Amino acid sequence: MDKQSALQQMIDESGRIVFFGGAGVSTESGIPDFRSVDGLYHQKYDYPPETIISHSFFVENPEAFYKFYKEKMLCLDASPNAAHRKLSELEACGKLSAVITQNIDGFHQAAGSKRVLELHGSIHRNFCMRCGKFYDAAYVRDAAGIPRCSCGGMVKPDVVLYEESLDSDTLQQSVELIAGADMLIVGGTSLAVYPAAGLLRYYRGGKLVVINKSPTPMDQSADLLISGKIGEVLGAVSCR
Ligand code: NAD
Repeated sequence: MDKQSALQQMIDESGRIVFFGGAGVSTESGIPDFRSVDGLYHQKYDYPPETIISHSFFVENPEAFYKFYKEKMLCLDASPNAAHRKLSELEACGKLSAVITQNIDGFHQAAGSKRVLELHGSIHRNFCMRCGKFYDAAYVRDAAGIPRCSCGGMVKPDVVLYEESLDSDTLQQSVELIAGADMLIVGGTSLAVYPAAGLLRYYRGGKLVVINKSPTPMDQSADLLISGKIGEVLGAVSCR
């Protein structure tokens, strides 16, 4: 049996699928990931991207943070691709329990997914650091330089920067969903970022599928390993 048919058969036999993904899920929408050859870690900046998107850098150099963030992470002109759409369909037809994502772009919700756990937050939520007032992503994009609240405070995206902790409720729900899944599809992630990648150890079932363009630390443990583009692979799945 070819790998695409094996994937389809596993999906046909499952009813509590959890999808765990990362930046590679959105590259087919035109958003660069971090670690591919054309990813953000291989481009030249004044500081390494890990430094720029850290909490201390944000506090000390908000102007430089926002320049990088607006140019490289605030991707408001792109749209969901076949992977996001198929995951939403799989949820709607009762096969998929949740998407757990390391992405901050909001594409799963834009594609119609209802249960999305955003481990690293979202570009679509932004709050004043002084008074807590909410701002949308367009407000941040359109601000000249550092986005400021009407009270004068600085607006911060609700994304988890390096040195910041993940939301404990989101982590706990992710653990429960993964532990209760009858199939776990992992895709578009290098599994290099912790604690997110560590969540996979809670999966106890026998249908672990890895769909990624480059090798990952989970390849050896996968029941099915597909080296390919996630939009193409998931796009060819049917809900039945
Ligand atoms: P990563 O850059 O470390 O790894 C991406 C992985 O996806 C790589 O292994 C790459 O080979 C694979 N990949 C790329 N395109 C693919 C495709 N079309 N099909 C299948 N595989 C593909 O990303 P990560 O593991 O998510 O970790 C980096 C961190 O960066 C995460 O915290 C994430 O939140 C953040 N990030 C998010 C976005 C976004 O929201 N779209 C973009 C860049 C970075």
